Amino acid sequence: MKVTDHIKEANGKTLFSFEIIPPVKGRNIQELYDNINPLMEFKPPFIDVTTSREEYVYIDRDGLLDKKLTRMRPGTVGICASIKHKYDVDTVPHVLCGGFTKEETEYLLVDCHYLGIDNVMALRGDAMREEQYFEPTKGGHKYANGLVKQIQNLNCGKYLHEVIETDDCADFCIGVAGYPEKHLEAPSLQSDLKRLKEKVDAGADYVVTQMFFDNKKYFNFVDAVKDMGINVPIIPGIKPIAVKRHLQLLPQIFRIDLPQDLIDAVDACEDNKAVRQVGIEWGVQQSRELRDAGVPVLHYYSMGKSDNIKAIAQEIF
Ligand code: FAD
Repeated sequence: MKVTDHIKEANGKTLFSFEIIPPVKGRNIQELYDNINPLMEFKPPFIDVTTSREEYVYIDRDGLLDKKLTRMRPGTVGICASIKHKYDVDTVPHVLCGGFTKEETEYLLVDCHYLGIDNVMALRGDAMREEQYFEPTKGGHKYANGLVKQIQNLNCGKYLHEVIETDDCADFCIGVAGYPEKHLEAPSLQSDLKRLKEKVDAGADYVVTQMFFDNKKYFNFVDAVKDMGINVPIIPGIKPIAVKRHLQLLPQIFRIDLPQDLIDAVDACEDNKAVRQVGIEWGVQQSRELRDAGVPVLHYYSMGKSDNIKAIAQEIF
């Protein structure tokens, strides 16, 4: 079932969902299930599974370093299928421009359709670690907008090199990313909003936001998005702070601001166990206000450990 249909069916009730990261290649999928299991009592209608970009590794061959491209966390679509099968819940694979040709994307979408996956999250992906800026993959999309168009075309039977008339067309519901504090490369929030509008005009059905720690940023963003004429659900993404280093890492990686009260509370912690508790309390406070404001879904970034998400969800759902 589509994410947008879940939202409609909920009839104004805020839903719970979360995002997981595939295990590192070679690790057991049971670790993933162990993190999902405690969250299933909150009845997520859908679970997102991220996709990581490929990266370079250097293999020592008798003193010479061999540079190879590899994907450290492969298996997004397979994991989506296995979660769907195991828990009878909808799954949303993240589909990236970076690292994929348009043909590879088409095959991946065909797989998703065969597997009964009804939703995909269309993203550009970040620059590779060695790159200063995002370099589009040869034969791939430059921006998420192009990917959204490709998925919408496929929904109409328009494949890359042929139109296929069939009564079994895919009908993917498409999510895209939105940035309450603007995307780090965007020259202004206004220009980023215009780009978001292009994605929605191309066929995106809903938006999931980057994490934010001050709800005012989300509420202002929703107002600005509506002023642009964007009328799709805007799902807030919530990440609880978990370690002291997040105070530096999160602003550096995502170019987001942290409220001074949160910084002070984390600074006052003696260890990361205490920081995790501060993150939970902040997450509860954020989630409660968002739920009371009637957001369609509270979507949590679980980052591989679910105890803090569970602690928040227990207070909210
Ligand atoms: P786009 O929408 O393409 O925008 C990228 C930048 O280009 C923006 O600054 C935009 O303003 C600008 N822009 C867009 N169109 C144009 C144009 N035509 N001309 C000029 N500028 C333009 N990353 C992963 O690697 N894997 C994941 O699983 C993943 N999941 C995510 C989930 C969510 C909810 C969010 C918010 C982000 C996620 N990301 C993920 C990170 C995402 O890939 C990065 O933030 C990436 O840098 C931008 O992706 P996008 O889809 O927003 O790009």
